[in-house]
Amino acid sequence: MSFLAAAGARRLCAMRAVLPCLWRGKYFSSGDEPAENNSVTPMLRHLIYKIKSTGPITVAEYMKEVLTNPAKGYYMKHDMLGEEGDFITSPEISQMFGELLGIWFISEWIAAGKNAAFQLVELGPGKGTLLEDILRVFSQLGSLLKNCDISLHLVEVSQKLSEIQALTLTEEKVPLERNAESPVYMKGVTKSGIPVSWYRDLQDVPKEYSFYLAHEFFDVLPVHKFQKTPHGWREVLVDIDPQVSDKLRFVLAPCATPAETFIQDDETRDHVEVCPEAGAVIQELSQRISLTGGAALIADYGHDGTKTDTFRGFRGHRLHDVLTAPGTADLTADVDFSYLRRMSQGKVASLGPVEQQTFLRNMGIDVRLKILLDKTDEPSLRQQLLQGYNMLMNPMKMGERFNFLALVPHQRLHGRNQTNARQSKPSPSPVAGFGELAWQ
Ligand code: SAH
Repeated sequence: MSFLAAAGARRLCAMRAVLPCLWRGKYFSSGDEPAENNSVTPMLRHLIYKIKSTGPITVAEYMKEVLTNPAKGYYMKHDMLGEEGDFITSPEISQMFGELLGIWFISEWIAAGKNAAFQLVELGPGKGTLLEDILRVFSQLGSLLKNCDISLHLVEVSQKLSEIQALTLTEEKVPLERNAESPVYMKGVTKSGIPVSWYRDLQDVPKEYSFYLAHEFFDVLPVHKFQKTPHGWREVLVDIDPQVSDKLRFVLAPCATPAETFIQDDETRDHVEVCPEAGAVIQELSQRISLTGGAALIADYGHDGTKTDTFRGFRGHRLHDVLTAPGTADLTADVDFSYLRRMSQGKVASLGPVEQQTFLRNMGIDVRLKILLDKTDEPSLRQQLLQGYNMLMNPMKMGERFNFLALVPHQRLHGRNQTNARQSKPSPSPVAGFGELAWQ
């Protein structure tokens, strides 16, 4: 409880997004919604040219091109987060979200023996709001962290969003260093004096003791889709509609495709989505954590290997047909947490997934809300806090559909770093958020 009281001592943030906006986690089938816009976008022209030259493309290739093509990709050039954009995420809804995650990292840092230095690495940091809230907690708990050498490492492919992140996080008076050719394409210093670096790829982040954070990152990584047929698994491809020359449609591959190897032998569903890129990121994180220590916290909407067709698009806070006006809407698919756990290949221990409402409650969101409510008499701020809490915690909103998964070194759970004087065996402290709240 003492962390929460200390972190709650000062600041109440300015208004966040005016609620309600639509969040992306709600499940809808990808095929039923009406096409909202048939305009021929530059991305559609590019895809039609590509398909004409080399044949139908996989859904994974489609998603990758549409989202992160360096010239025309959806994520590359505009700000899609918040009220004016296409969707809203938890950190944009309430400051409490990032503050509790900040406490999680400090709690893990303490439990693992207060290393003299750590890197905080975020994958897909959006507007930088989550990091801003985390850093505020680090500043407020400065006496705990004062001898710890902290650095920030942001993995971001979007030029536009990296500029917004820099505006949110860095000290204006210290000019940013830019080098588009280097794996570290931008460097700066945060408002609280912490060095911050930007990369396009996790591989380029120094392999040092690190805490990793991925919030609504895995759901935008490209998925392959497969349909079970009487002839076995067939991959879903994107082709040009033969009836309408500037329209795309889904088709099934006539024979087996290489990505089929990602489907489990004992798979019982008749439609599956697999995300090899997510598997590669998890393998990299697991390898790093097993070698250098630290932990990863992954939060996203998803399932445990049970759902089928979750591929969908969002534009202007509304569902958008995934094949219409590509490049103008976000594309996303639910994260398969069972696949992520499998991809860690036993190199690290995994905790969860637990529902967002459980994780945040275990982290003390009720206490945090009370502290913040006690700080203000302003009715609009109080209402914003209560609405934000409801949005994050209500099972019908984000409370149930969003999940948290943690990856920690095996020794973290076997307590090599902590010994209980009254027992001969080491006794590990529980990993915060994944069990009942037990603040000391
Ligand atoms: N974490 C933020 C933003 C989520 S949106 C939040 O919760 O508010 C997804 C983020 O991932 C964006 O910042 C997007 O630019 C980034 N992104 C998408 N694909 C990426 C990739 N392949 N590598 C790195 N970042 C990526």
